[in-house]
Amino acid sequence: MNTITQILSKQKAFFKSQKTKDVPYRLSLLKALKQEIVSNEHAIYDALKKDFKKPEFETFISEFGLVISELNLAIKNLKKWAKPKRVKPSMLTFPARDYIYKEPYGTILIIAPWNYPFLLAIEPLIMAIAAGNTVILKPSELTKHTSQLITDIVQKIFPEAVAASIEGGVEIATELLSQKWDYIFFTGSVSVGKIVARAAARHLTPVTLELGGKSPCIIDDTADLKLVARRISWGKFLNAGQTCISADYIIIKSNLKDAFIDALKIEIIKRYGANPKESRDLPRIINKRNVQRIAEMLEDSHVIFGGNIDVEDCYIAPTLIDSPNLDSKLMSDEIFGPVLPILTYDTEQDIESIIWNYDKPLALYVFSNNDTFIEQTIKKYSFGGGVINDLLIHFGNHRLPFGGIGASGMGAYHGKTGFDTFSHNKAISKRGNWSDPSIRYAPYKGKLGLLKKMFKYFS
Ligand code: NAD
Repeated sequence: MNTITQILSKQKAFFKSQKTKDVPYRLSLLKALKQEIVSNEHAIYDALKKDFKKPEFETFISEFGLVISELNLAIKNLKKWAKPKRVKPSMLTFPARDYIYKEPYGTILIIAPWNYPFLLAIEPLIMAIAAGNTVILKPSELTKHTSQLITDIVQKIFPEAVAASIEGGVEIATELLSQKWDYIFFTGSVSVGKIVARAAARHLTPVTLELGGKSPCIIDDTADLKLVARRISWGKFLNAGQTCISADYIIIKSNLKDAFIDALKIEIIKRYGANPKESRDLPRIINKRNVQRIAEMLEDSHVIFGGNIDVEDCYIAPTLIDSPNLDSKLMSDEIFGPVLPILTYDTEQDIESIIWNYDKPLALYVFSNNDTFIEQTIKKYSFGGGVINDLLIHFGNHRLPFGGIGASGMGAYHGKTGFDTFSHNKAISKRGNWSDPSIRYAPYKGKLGLLKKMFKYFS
């Protein structure tokens, strides 16, 4: 195995060879990648099952299926996306033909988390390659089966000079971050995001940070509680709540709290049975350290449902918590597990004082049939993206950019937005030689009036 610096210098040299600028070459890589992933479909399900008992259904809907859709989209649209786009000239460029050229940044570092370990490593890789870059990818050390499979796939499809997967933990990540990159794409926690941003700043490297936070879910008194409970029982406990855009906590109109809790208990039992530990559909927590972390959050909480923990099995039952204090452990950090605190409100100010107590979240959800309340909420709070009357689904539309704001991240991707993220917009004005009006040249005397008229005409 070559060292990081060897691979990096190979990639830099290959990028300079101009080969990655060739769109048919990129297409051939993407098609080969798709074929390899399709032929590994069952190996992917097995790897995720071994890593944290993720059910095949969830791996299909939230990893494999999304990756294949992204590949199909890139393969179908790449020629169009990569073409220079002509724009109208302005007063100052006329007469010229003006274009935006899509330029690959060069050599890209992608660092991926463990919670959707296949999707969140491969999806940025697809668009980075589609845009004509070379990539070094570091998958998570916590999902060793999936990460090994990712490395095998990348190694089989890409020459090392185009893409490589380097496995390892903090030490390897630190070494990677000490290198000079043309772009860094990081998905993970806020605290490591700050480390990545600091490393990027050293070389003024542009960076996308896909981070997390405490994403609220507001339920007002016009919502259909049965339907709300059903949808929340899906979106909150998918991946055992280890989802960056999971509803971290509920804020419900106080008079509905008891009815909502009853409805949610019924739905959870429908999904996972009376003993969720026996359910084949509830993934495990990624490791004992995270079980311990969540268990500590429960210590001073009022558990009203679930609460069972088996550290050895990395199991935490779907758990509901009644009205925690905002300064409790549970409400201080992102929960990232199958634990749902239920807070209440009576006035709009109550909602404000909860949401504005935290940094800008990655997602916000509203369950309501009151259009005025919905629009007000969308516009009032600052958050990465969200859904009205459901959870998570905005992630699944490639036409919607996905990314955070403030502490939940910067930059976005998914679909064409991903291609744009990994491309520099190079502005080119192609000036003809057939005309060279004398107005811009000194001496300026007597020309200003005409210039002002021309500016008016062009604006
Ligand atoms: P993490 O930040 O611990 O790790 C992410 C990656 O960073 C891993 O590859 C890890 O090896 C590496 N890393 C860890 N410590 C490092 C260090 N000191 N220096 C450099 N690299 C380091 O995150 P995680 O536990 O894998 O994932 C959970 C977090 O990720 C949650 O906060 C979640 O909200 C967030 N997340 C965000 C998104 C999103 O799209 N916005 C998606 C998934 C997860």
